[in-house]
Amino acid sequence: MHQRKLLLINPWIADFTAFDLWSKPLGLLYIAKFLQNYGYKIELLDLMDRLRWQDTSNDRFKDGRGKYRKTVIPKPPALAQFPRRYGLYGASREQFIAALANVQPPDAILVTSLIAYWYPGVMETIRILRKSFPKTPLILGGIYASLYPEHARNTMAPDFLITGYGEKKVMQLLDELFGINRDYAIVPDFSDEGALPWHLYPHLKSVAIQTSRGCPNRCTYCATYLLNKKFIQRLPEDVINEITSVYRQFDVRHFAFYDDALFANRDRHIVPILNGIIDSGIKINLHSPNGLFARAINSELAELMFASGFKTVRLSLESTAPEIQKSSSNKINNATYIEAIANLERAGFARNSIETYLIMGLPGQTRLQIADSIDFVADQGVIVRLASFSPIPGTVEWDRARALGYVRGDTDPLMTNATIFPFRTQNLDYNDYLDLRRIANSRNAANRKDQQIIHEEINGTD
Ligand code: SF4
Repeated sequence: MHQRKLLLINPWIADFTAFDLWSKPLGLLYIAKFLQNYGYKIELLDLMDRLRWQDTSNDRFKDGRGKYRKTVIPKPPALAQFPRRYGLYGASREQFIAALANVQPPDAILVTSLIAYWYPGVMETIRILRKSFPKTPLILGGIYASLYPEHARNTMAPDFLITGYGEKKVMQLLDELFGINRDYAIVPDFSDEGALPWHLYPHLKSVAIQTSRGCPNRCTYCATYLLNKKFIQRLPEDVINEITSVYRQFDVRHFAFYDDALFANRDRHIVPILNGIIDSGIKINLHSPNGLFARAINSELAELMFASGFKTVRLSLESTAPEIQKSSSNKINNATYIEAIANLERAGFARNSIETYLIMGLPGQTRLQIADSIDFVADQGVIVRLASFSPIPGTVEWDRARALGYVRGDTDPLMTNATIFPFRTQNLDYNDYLDLRRIANSRNAANRKDQQIIHEEINGTD
């Protein structure tokens, strides 16, 4: 039987702003690994792979993160009133079209999707794919497809759409298309074991790692539970083997944890993982672009983080207001946050190397609550990261936003864009939004004593 060829695509981001924080399409890579193990031949085009599509030699950061190239495009009509330039981030259209001309004609195309309001990027990706391969079955999956299946079906018109974990589902679908029989009773729904197929990337400076799927918490604004019904952690030895093998095979020195709950079950998960990295003798840099559970950072974990090479430490606080902390699963309070910072400092981290996420724009959240939270974090000497709220269907905050009239059942996902949603609420307007960002930036600059960093913050990922 001849080997079936699949073309896997990580599509463009379409937004006002985007910044590469060691990002890789992990869901798609897990699918690639799974299908490869079952005999499919995989080719990957990651349109967000900056090392492939753009000159990164002038990147301000030398660790793998950096600005995506932006191709300015007309704003979708729904966003016309917002005074920011809109664009496609990643490869240029010409690069994408040229790359498609060079791939082996695939038997099927798999496209992933991430944040729902980036869907115009997916749509444009699919439009170009259809021109190059009009008769090839196209399967759409990923986060947007899972959260907004009807919208995705209507807007993208994929041949097939898959929601939730895609590994086994997509294999069954492909097998059916190609007349392949196998015993599915012995096939797991997915497999998190082992290293991902990083050889699919022509160049690598950093990789993303997931040591778990899901989260044991239920924050009212978060969709993790909707996408991952169960919280599953990998075996620490398996994670250590993945990191050491990628280090040796691909000469990678930067590893970014993309877990939602990296520090859950601390003593039987992250503690053995970090001990294993230290014992292996490899010298690497660890980054956590997602917020870490500050409550878990006792002095032992802080010391292990420092010794194992943590360089980017971002903590979740969200707000200092107790009522918001409650909706944030009570995962933190101000006293435990202060203690975590003290533990990190004693372990060797400078306070101004630690960052903390605060949320802005929750339904009902006031400007004063946000300003107080910024002051509280900055008073600790820590860097503030303002993360703008975006409502996600199926969450408690979506229902709240709906009750307040900010969204409806048929709201275009574009209107949930985190750059614009916060000032569509009654409590904040655009000037408040800009003011709060300015306050955070100036407090950060004072803590860093480095004015130049402001640029990255204005152009940050949220
Ligand atoms: S802790 Fe983080 S990942 Fe978990 S539910 Fe809350 S926001 Fe989501």
